[in-house]
Amino acid sequence: MERKIEDLGKDIKEAFGMSAGYVYQDSSDIRERIAHKLPEVNCRRIMAVIPVFWILCAFYMAEVMLFHHRETMGKVMALCTALLVIAVVYEVLLVRCLYIRQMRHRERMRRCMILYRSFWWIWLIGLLLLCFLNFRARMSGAIYVFACIVACLVPLYPLVDFVVMLISSLTISILAASASQGNIQMLFYDYIVMLVIGFIAQRLEIRIWAMREYIYLTAFRDPLTGLLNRRGGNALLEEELGSKDGGETVGVLMMDIDYFKKYNDSLGHDAGDACLKMVSGCIRETVKRRTELMIRHGGEEFVVLFLDATEQELRTWGERIRQAVIREGLAAPYPKVADVVTVSIGAAMAVWKSGEGYEPLLEHADAALYDAKNAGRNRVVFR
Ligand code: GH3
Ligand code: MG
Ligand code: MG
Repeated sequence: MERKIEDLGKDIKEAFGMSAGYVYQDSSDIRERIAHKLPEVNCRRIMAVIPVFWILCAFYMAEVMLFHHRETMGKVMALCTALLVIAVVYEVLLVRCLYIRQMRHRERMRRCMILYRSFWWIWLIGLLLLCFLNFRARMSGAIYVFACIVACLVPLYPLVDFVVMLISSLTISILAASASQGNIQMLFYDYIVMLVIGFIAQRLEIRIWAMREYIYLTAFRDPLTGLLNRRGGNALLEEELGSKDGGETVGVLMMDIDYFKKYNDSLGHDAGDACLKMVSGCIRETVKRRTELMIRHGGEEFVVLFLDATEQELRTWGERIRQAVIREGLAAPYPKVADVVTVSIGAAMAVWKSGEGYEPLLEHADAALYDAKNAGRNRVVFR
């Protein structure tokens, strides 16, 4: 039976609101991630609307030159030119911040937030000055439409920015009304309506965004360990290497918990699950700064892929993971290898072929893992 989109929304809301397990954890991660991305997304939008402003401003200047009152023409032209220059500088700053300068994510977000906030204030002041200087003439239709588009398209977020902007716009319209500046008052009334529409649209967008991320998480991540599942591994590898034609060398670590069946049989499945979490935690903590391609490949088998590692590095990472698991010191009920839970690791370099996913890369690492098991377990073997 086909499920309605509202039902899906309800399910997700319930999952967000009531689950105390990994779903709740995921949803808070999602919200945090979205909040982090917002300044950047808004800056991309500002970047997209600025060229439209250039064109409209040029048209406006032409219109003022042809039809408007001579007294105000000089001032309007000077202000328009100043706004044009600011818009050009802004575009350059945005492109530099978003695409050219290499910087840490946190720093980029901070700069995006500054650019995004200052854009709004310059835009508001510029709009106000334009209205005042040209109050005798009809406000240009194009600039008016653009003001509304900006209010809708570049949403004001978070709430505090929206409220401050709303109060400022309201104050301007009230002051304009008391000074009998009809056109300014009307413009800011419409502007306020657009601001509210933009804010509501942004809230809806965030919800849809969170929903999409949630679906992505449930489809691509293994709920028990939080690592990627096979589908996620393939998707992320494709994302990382998709622009290449193939032929890249990938370092592969394949690991398997030693005598895990016995662990399960004697301590039960819950203890087995806790052990799986412990091992996946060790993998994550050891390699998270180096690669995101950490995959729960099967029951108690994990795969880690390194996109630009040498043979020596691969051995080192394998050894670090093996030792991290031993350091956890989780007692093994059948101490055939050691007193604590251990893993065996197979390591190999493999050549990636475009569009094939990561599974074909495992052939040699799998054979190396087999060797590690046969050689007595709790070791890293390179092939
Ligand atoms: P070896 O050292 O040769 O790897 O021995 P082993 O006992 O680990 O052998 P094997 O790989 O066949 O054992 C896999 C076991 O993993 C079987 C199953 O009980 C357990 N397992 C698979 N998935 C899960 C899971 O999600 N949770 C729990 N608790 N156990 C799982
Ligand atoms: Mg196994
Ligand atoms: Mg095993």
